[in-house]
Formats: sequence, structure tokens, C-alpha cells
Amino acid sequence: MHELGLTETIVAIALDHAQGAHVLRLTLEVGQLTAVMPDAIRFCFDVCAQGTLLEGAVLEIIQPPGLGQCRVCGATLSLDSPFGQCTCGSVDLTIIQGQELIIKELELEELCV
Ligand SMILES: [Zn+2]
Repeated sequence: MHELGLTETIVAIALDHAQGAHVLRLTLEVGQLTAVMPDAIRFCFDVCAQGTLLEGAVLEIIQPPGLGQCRVCGATLSLDSPFGQCTCGSVDLTIIQGQELIIKELELEELCV
């Protein structure tokens, strides 16, 4: 499954950032044009996080909608897939939103020093 490898990477990056602290909340930004299923990530996350500092962390997934800009007339339009068509008839679009796949926020347990 594509999402499993992806989630393993996300967990590895998060653990790297946490530097030994427990992770309370992990916010992911998964654009709607990425074709990644948030439910699959959630499922894989529970598996990958088990036994790590991420275990029990709240996984929040934000899905920015697809947005493109026409290279011909400059109009912006919402996209359901990476391939859309502008109202002017052009299919020459720049994707400006919806392909994000990033860790947006990591909330760590405060360490008492
Ligand atoms: Zn256009």
C-alpha cells in the first residue's frame, strides 16, 4: 500500500523533530489532489506509531482543496483532479494548491527540566 510507506516516512520525520519528547498532536496537510486517502493514513499511523513516542498522538489531517491558475487568462479555478479546464477553454493550468503533503504542526509534550 502506497500510504504505508508514506506514513512510515511521516512518523520518521516526526520522531526526528520530537528529539525524544512525546508527541501529543500531529497535524498533516494532505492536498485533495494528492490521491492519498486520509483514512488509510490514519490506519497506517496507528500501526507505525505503536511503540514509539508517537503512540497515542492525535492525528489531524487538513485537506486543502485543489486550486489551479490558468496560464492563458490568469483565472483561478477549483480543481477536483490535477487535470482541469479553464472556462476560457485552456487546459494549460498551474496547480497552486492541493498537492501539499507536509507535516504542518507537531505538538510536543513539555519536558520538565
Ligand atoms: Zn483561462
